[in-house]
Amino acid sequence: MKLSYRCESCKKDNTVKTKAANRHGLLMELGKNEINKRCLHCGHFTKKHINRLYADDNYTYVIIGFVLSAVIRYLLWDLGWVSTLTGAIPLYFWIEMKKKSSAFNRTMVK
Ligand SMILES: [Zn+2]
Repeated sequence: MKLSYRCESCKKDNTVKTKAANRHGLLMELGKNEINKRCLHCGHFTKKHINRLYADDNYTYVIIGFVLSAVIRYLLWDLGWVSTLTGAIPLYFWIEMKKKSSAFNRTMVK
């Protein structure tokens, strides 16, 4: 999951990568409740509490969903109406992505 925070100095967004599914997991991963990162844009060190990191929507999965649906549609072309159902695949990926990022953003740590 990609997390983002805003640099206090230049107000640009920076991203942090994590394997954690929520802030509790992130806390375990970091071993502390804040990050201290150098801004990629201006080099300013920003200390942020992990409650102020937000999960970004990862549209890569939606794109994968589109590719997958195109492939399946091609394979099922002879079945006619079945191929139209493949349009639901990217939608499903999109919902899953939204669920993941909102689950992350909902949990707060002390
Ligand atoms: Zn900056």
